[in-house]
Amino acid sequence: MAAGSRLLRFAASVSSPTVQTFSVFARRLSIAASEGDLRFPPSSTVNSSCEARCDVKGKNVQWAFLGCPGVGKGTYASRLSLLLGVPHISTGDLVREELNSSGPLADQLKGIVNQGKLVSDEIIIDLLSKRVEEGAARGESGFILDGFPRTVRQAEILERVTDIDQVINLKLREDVLLKKCLGRRICSQCGGNFNVALIDIKEEEGKPGIYMAPLLPPSDCADKLVTRSDDTEEVVKERLRIYNDMTQPVEEFYRKRGKLLEFELPGGIPESWPKLLQALHLDNHDHKQSLTA
Ligand code: ADP
Repeated sequence: MAAGSRLLRFAASVSSPTVQTFSVFARRLSIAASEGDLRFPPSSTVNSSCEARCDVKGKNVQWAFLGCPGVGKGTYASRLSLLLGVPHISTGDLVREELNSSGPLADQLKGIVNQGKLVSDEIIIDLLSKRVEEGAARGESGFILDGFPRTVRQAEILERVTDIDQVINLKLREDVLLKKCLGRRICSQCGGNFNVALIDIKEEEGKPGIYMAPLLPPSDCADKLVTRSDDTEEVVKERLRIYNDMTQPVEEFYRKRGKLLEFELPGGIPESWPKLLQALHLDNHDHKQSLTA
């Protein structure tokens, strides 16, 4: 179905301001995807103001995560998504779903991802636009983006189609990132993410040490673990190189706009999660206990 008619269909069915705004985001992304360009109206022409969207009490946030491969964007984005009740939208997951399908893009995507390269902005925005449209049709509002934007052009497009409240930049030293990517395992049955790497680096020459316990699977998953095809040493190194080249400028993009929150991970989930909640001023959130590691 053409993006325009898909959008018209759900736009007619939404009523609340937050859902309307989410559908506006979907429509504008869709226009960006179909035109393959930045030729869409400036954001001031639609009501995407905070007044219409921000339900501060409900933490109806529009956040994005930046950070190198292996830093834990998916882990923390999905925990925050549960905590705040907003969808976690990972473009890496959207790409993997597409490449595991028998769709027309599958082979093309497989080649790109397995070399550690970035998928074109057009394909990514198209996948994201479809995901956001489906979410809008289900009445979703707010989001936590993970893996998008990854280029300055993607950030510029996003800036024109919606208001991002905050961008969280997760940071970890590069030798740890590599070990974490190589230790990553996924349960082929339930999709759970685990990590068999034990990081235990002692303080050295003034550089702080870091300890991260492995995140081991329950016994049900233990014999069903698989490794992502792009988590090989060669490909991870290429992904890190591309991150530094293409994505680090995105940090500056948001820093200049006063939207970047830098967060250096102090250790594994038990050490990092409470500190991240504090940094996000969520440490008094009602439901945090249920997620405390
Ligand atoms: P990482 O662990 O490297 O952060 P992701 O799971 O986010 O990986 O993404 C996996 C792959 O999907 C990337 O290496 C890239 O090929 C593709 N991809 C995901 N998001 C984007 C994006 N925003 N732009 C271009 N390619 C992307």
